[in-house]
Amino acid sequence: MPLDLGSIRTVLFDMDGVLYRGAQPLPGVNEMLAFLEAHGIAYASITNNASLTQQQFAAKVQKMGLKLAAERIMTSSIATNVYLRSVAPRGTTVYAIGMDGLSEPLFGDGYFVLDEKNPAYVVVGVDFEVTYAKLRAACLAIRAGANFIGTNPDKTFPAEDGIVPGCGALLAALEAATSQKPMIIGKPEPGMFIAAMALLEAQAPTTLIIGDRYDTDILGGAKAGLRTAMVLTGVSTAAEVEHEEVKPDAIFADLPDLQRAWQAAL
Ligand SMILES: [Mg+2]
Repeated sequence: MPLDLGSIRTVLFDMDGVLYRGAQPLPGVNEMLAFLEAHGIAYASITNNASLTQQQFAAKVQKMGLKLAAERIMTSSIATNVYLRSVAPRGTTVYAIGMDGLSEPLFGDGYFVLDEKNPAYVVVGVDFEVTYAKLRAACLAIRAGANFIGTNPDKTFPAEDGIVPGCGALLAALEAATSQKPMIIGKPEPGMFIAAMALLEAQAPTTLIIGDRYDTDILGGAKAGLRTAMVLTGVSTAAEVEHEEVKPDAIFADLPDLQRAWQAAL
């Protein structure tokens, strides 16, 4: 089914490679956000990055001049928190390996109770200060029956001095030590798409994911039932997806190209 932009009511943006690249804003972002607002189309941005809080992310993109409000940024930590609240009652015990971006949403309002010894859930996000003691506690809890949850599957991420371990690398260590596979919330798993749509009261068939990475944004979005638009301002190329069975519903050079097509479809 060809993509009918006129039917789209909600947009989810991937961040790196769509809104900015590194510290450089990409063209047409503020124009695109104004266009969506003018047409009453809801939007949010979603990222697997679980190292920053919503406020820290907002400060980062606002410094680049992007008009994206903090409450429109959903990290995989926030999505994990939304998911856990949908399956676990207030007062449920959790042990978490992660940074402020994970612990603030989980424990900030007292919904979840931190328990290192006998938690119902072990939640793991990237942690720049991970220690053997933290991995040991998580391992013992998972072996004792705690549910094992990972914020995102990214084994690595690019840092200024090279490629460094991400959440997926910590999950791999615990998987090796427990012989248990985590349930993962971030892209390409459906959890994050579902959490973002729930917050925006959106329906999958009228929601468009705009992403630059085929294997996470596009394939993950398609599996969750969303419509998909790939932009060529990041990782994946048009040639790369030519022979894929599941193709993006549409490919655009960049956001201004997409906005022109959308304008023409209204
Ligand atoms: Mg991206």
